[in-house]
Amino acid sequence: MSEIHDGPRSPLFTPLPLTGTCTVKTLARKGTSDAMRNNAAHAPNGPCTAWGVPFDITRVILAVDKPITETWRGFKAPWLVFMHTTDFVYPDRNKDGFISPTRGVGRLNECVADYVFMYADGTEVAVPILQRRQIGMLQRVCWGEVCFEAVGPQKPHPVRSLTDQPGSPFSWGQSQQRVVQADWAPWVNWLWAWENPHPSKPIVGLRVEPYAPVVISAVTAGKVASMPLRWETRKKAVWRLPKGESFDPTLSPQGVLKQIRLDLGQVISVMPKFDYPNDRWSDTYNNKTPEVRPNEFIVEYTAHPEARFHFADGSTVPASALGRRKALVPLAPATQRVRLRVVEKGSQKPVAVKLHVHGEAGEYLAPVDRHRIPNPQWFEDYSVDFLNERKHFCTYIPGETVIDLPLGTVYVEISKGLEIKPIRKAVKVTAATKDVTFTLERVLPWRERGWVTADTHVHFLSPPTAELEGAGEGINVVNLLASQWGELMTNVGDFDGKTTFGSKEAGGEGEYLVRVGSENRQHTLGHISLVGYNGPLIAPMCSGGPDEAALGDPVAILLTEWAQQCRKQGGVVVIPHFPNPRAEHAATIITGNADAIEMASWGWHYGGIDPYSLSDWYRYLNCGHFIPAVAGTDKMSADTSVGTVRTYAKLPQGREFTYDAWKDAVRSGNTFVTYGPLVEFSVEGKPAGSRIAMSHSGGTVDVEWNVASVTVPMSRVELVVNGEIRESKRIKPKQDAGHWRVKIDKSSWLALLVRGHYPDKHEIVAAHTSPVAVPVEGSTFFAAADALTILEQIEGAIAYFDTMATRADDAARKRMRLVLTGAYRALHNRLHQDGHDHGHTHTTDHPEHHAKNKRHAPGNSRRS
Ligand SMILES: [Zn+2]
Ligand SMILES: [Zn+2]
Repeated sequence: MSEIHDGPRSPLFTPLPLTGTCTVKTLARKGTSDAMRNNAAHAPNGPCTAWGVPFDITRVILAVDKPITETWRGFKAPWLVFMHTTDFVYPDRNKDGFISPTRGVGRLNECVADYVFMYADGTEVAVPILQRRQIGMLQRVCWGEVCFEAVGPQKPHPVRSLTDQPGSPFSWGQSQQRVVQADWAPWVNWLWAWENPHPSKPIVGLRVEPYAPVVISAVTAGKVASMPLRWETRKKAVWRLPKGESFDPTLSPQGVLKQIRLDLGQVISVMPKFDYPNDRWSDTYNNKTPEVRPNEFIVEYTAHPEARFHFADGSTVPASALGRRKALVPLAPATQRVRLRVVEKGSQKPVAVKLHVHGEAGEYLAPVDRHRIPNPQWFEDYSVDFLNERKHFCTYIPGETVIDLPLGTVYVEISKGLEIKPIRKAVKVTAATKDVTFTLERVLPWRERGWVTADTHVHFLSPPTAELEGAGEGINVVNLLASQWGELMTNVGDFDGKTTFGSKEAGGEGEYLVRVGSENRQHTLGHISLVGYNGPLIAPMCSGGPDEAALGDPVAILLTEWAQQCRKQGGVVVIPHFPNPRAEHAATIITGNADAIEMASWGWHYGGIDPYSLSDWYRYLNCGHFIPAVAGTDKMSADTSVGTVRTYAKLPQGREFTYDAWKDAVRSGNTFVTYGPLVEFSVEGKPAGSRIAMSHSGGTVDVEWNVASVTVPMSRVELVVNGEIRESKRIKPKQDAGHWRVKIDKSSWLALLVRGHYPDKHEIVAAHTSPVAVPVEGSTFFAAADALTILEQIEGAIAYFDTMATRADDAARKRMRLVLTGAYRALHNRLHQDGHDHGHTHTTDHPEHHAKNKRHAPGNSRRS
């Protein structure tokens, strides 16, 4: 026997006593079919609350083949709610297996009984009870055959994601829906509400005249003005918890909260209340996150007009009279359907953008086809959303969308990358508002000058989703990377080794491209992004065991070998989220097998380019490995936006923008990475990636720069020479330009660094260019201290390979060890040629060298 309690009871209903014919228990014996007898144990029994309506199940009416009469002391009620069901019968099939004519498995419209309502004045009203109209069978065999005028026994309810509420009875996938309509059970009672046509006449009885077996478990009289089982459209209210009380988001298995509940309705969600600076909205910056009020929430709900909210202290308030209690203040519901368009100045064509809209209480307003409850968890949801710091909700639209807005003022934020002025604008919505158009203006001409933007590192999105998010962020190239995560393979079906999504050849406009590559990974030796290669997927994508590869996978291939294969297949090799994992890529870089290192943002909008990453990069530049920088987000969830940090690469002169042209732009080294400021930088008129040879005596070079930002305000530009700040200048926040004369007396590399910050944030390295190299005759690019640290990194990789790595077959091991020792020797020899001493360990000891170099004691296996 089970009890149904799907929430608090409405006080507007009174259960009626039933004399009945038997108890629920005896249905196990008296049932008219196996289905009824066998499932009687699951039939609801005792006091129940279903859809907020109270029922008292004690004795039940089992009407089989003769009328059963139930009598009551006269009562008046506009509604009677029945909890009833019919026996389960399969339709008959003919010898060929067909049902003809068929009313469906639910036997639509078959009359199972007449319910005859008896009034005190002797009059009667008979109501035919029809299958799939007022009643259904006790077991559902088929989806899609529910009742038209009755509902299942438990009201629909919200579900939290399994991550948010571990142990919830719903599967991970089901929990993503955030809502459940549970009407599958071994025994289903259907709720049917009868509207009494004579509410002023006392009812004294009910006669059930059956044509098929019917079980009436309970009847309840209700004093409501309209259909008690029908709720109204969504509404919202601001809910203030008493000081000191904290909100418990845990949902009961019936989907009910402890602190705020509805009887004839359901709380859909309780979201934090975001406090936006509405009065200064257009003066605040794009993506700025709101304050979160610790004790205030936005409650969204759907309910019958006479529903009541019930609070933890036992108090209640009618949903129709919110505001009487300060704890719950109603908000204008989002009922005005508006077509929202965004165009670029000078054109009427809609353009993809990132969009955020909120109402007067900070409530997020999503387009009708976007998440209202976005999910920022890893690998849980790849929809086109972005949740900055998990509290500023945005979505991407292709330039036009439909959105339901509340009447009053709504606050809109629209952006499209770093060259277009972002908009924050308040919009008045009235009943006449049907269309709203916003016009964006491109104010920084970097694209015009041949620069294109890229995110080198995005996971999980589908290619078209990546294309929309890229376009919305003004990212010309999104590199979507397939990978392996233990036993999980991602984006592998999206990889075909040839298609550039969004390109003219693929039917796009050629401005926003997506290409699927792979991130090949090893948990100790490191990760390597193989970008834009042709032909087959370079697999295995991961190697060497968990949790990048699967348990038991040997180290079967090295990063350096993956890189070589990528280049053979025409791709660009990027060392992702530089420098960690910090191991084998040292060998990849010094053997010249990498094309770029990547500055990563992950989910943080305000972290800037990490000086830790820069320090690591500078080591290679100091040793003459002029590997350029690119930027990627490693986006794996909605809490990261595509292009948070991005690569700008300048197309080779005269080249039209294509994916191949972008690859060449990266290879040329004319790149910068940025969180906002855009940069032009040259040394003697030559851009990043250039070499300017100087004679023995060195000389002076002219360094020119021009910087601009429409997003993060800039504070300083600095000239980095050989890893140190040589010049530093305070600059205007939006645009500035200048030049320096810089004396060069030894081989040097030069790069420009831009600092900046939002008014309420720390100063960050907001942009950094790739270097220009100025070799001076007779002076090598070699910093022994840096070289030694690189050497030690390779040494570490070899030590891991020799000692801990799960072993591949001998031939593979021999091959891989040669790659590692080859890199080691190349750098090691440079150190020795340069006359530098260093320690050796047993893994890298080289007795053949000792013979020539007396500074090493033969066989020394410890650091010297
Ligand atoms: Zn990685
Ligand atoms: Zn990654």
